[in-house]
Amino acid sequence: MDSKILRKLFLGFIEIHILHHAKKKPFYGSWMIEELKHHGYDISPGTLYPILHTLCREGLLSVEEQNVNGKIRKYYSITKEGEDVLIKAKEKALELINEIGG
Ligand SMILES: [Zn+2]
Repeated sequence: MDSKILRKLFLGFIEIHILHHAKKKPFYGSWMIEELKHHGYDISPGTLYPILHTLCREGLLSVEEQNVNGKIRKYYSITKEGEDVLIKAKEKALELINEIGG
């Protein structure tokens, strides 16, 4: 990520990506880091967790602690508001791809 504009764009893409996966099933942080890696985003926990906290604070994600083999893990899921935001973001993303993709 070399320019400010790219960083800002990628942050938005990552946020949409997170909401998309949260809608499919609840996830935990290190799973999301791996998932984003598959899409070419090399994101550290120090970058991901503040994004997750912001999405929670904005009411788009909710978080629940679960005990997995004696280890407390935070699972994030999408809220109704998050689903609404995802639908709108998707519409706009598809519209943009139609415009620039061809
Ligand atoms: Zn994905």
